[in-house]
Amino acid sequence: MVSPGTLSLLTALDDGSPAELEPTVDPDTGAVGYPDAERLLNPTDDPPFELLESLAERGVLEKSFEEKVYICPDCDAEGLQYTTACPDCGSAYTVETDLFEHLDCGCVEPQTAFEADGNYVCPNCEEHLDSLARIEQGRLHTCRDCGEWAESPAHRLACRACGELHAPLEAIERALCRYALTDTGGQWLRTQLTARDALVAALDDRDLSVSVDRALTDDGGTAHHVHVYGEDPLFDNQTVGAIHERPTAENVATLREAADAAGARAVLVTTTGSVGERAAAVAESADITVLRADSAGDLHREYEVTEDPRSGMGIVQRITSAVSQKS
Ligand SMILES: [Zn+2]
Ligand SMILES: [Zn+2]
Ligand SMILES: [Zn+2]
Repeated sequence: MVSPGTLSLLTALDDGSPAELEPTVDPDTGAVGYPDAERLLNPTDDPPFELLESLAERGVLEKSFEEKVYICPDCDAEGLQYTTACPDCGSAYTVETDLFEHLDCGCVEPQTAFEADGNYVCPNCEEHLDSLARIEQGRLHTCRDCGEWAESPAHRLACRACGELHAPLEAIERALCRYALTDTGGQWLRTQLTARDALVAALDDRDLSVSVDRALTDDGGTAHHVHVYGEDPLFDNQTVGAIHERPTAENVATLREAADAAGARAVLVTTTGSVGERAAAVAESADITVLRADSAGDLHREYEVTEDPRSGMGIVQRITSAVSQKS
């Protein structure tokens, strides 16, 4: 299984509450956040964005593109707005202007400068123009700050927070995506939950008071999140349980720490029926009970010890390969 926080997140997606994780952008810092994920994950989990990306990479989640946002490189604010600007002085105060050029004297001025009482008069040579035959017309961007004209203005992104203009490539670009559970992810999730229910039922049968996704705090104040916790305070009898598709030595060590924090015995459940060599060795020396959950939700004592996965294969890759082997 993944961490209890990740499991809560995936369970919420499976329940449709929410059906998708929507991105938000902090208007002050430009940071992309996933508030639902932040709410459901525990502080010990990976940062939401990294976690979602890794789950998406491995097919548990699917992501769909929502929009791109541009962040101010100076002040980190989001919501840059397109503007044209003067290529000479950089001012955004440019306006498109109709220009006339008097071909006889070379005078170039805005059309309005040629207008006089419904007629056209060259403002330079003062020739009265009966027709526009000797006038070349054009439309240029004129800068109201420095007076320069340009055929094409500069393209800029303006920051509404600090007022700076940036060339588009200077702005920080972020693609925002939504994440939802895939069919494969849903199938995997239900296998994990079935196994967790089986462990809950087994502890319940032994008259323990059982809860799921519990945080157990050790003497140093560190919280350890476990999938299952059962206790019988009268007899000072506690059990912590973790569910993993194919437990690793790291999973075993994490469970051991949680068990030590609670002074509890530890039970590790494998949903694929297999445990890595190192994990099996660590579990045995740490006195951890290993059980196999079958697809019907029954627990068994025998399990298989298999070669450790190649390094670099992430937990979720193993999840998805385990799921695809099953289907
Ligand atoms: Zn200018
Ligand atoms: Zn003229
Ligand atoms: Zn800014």
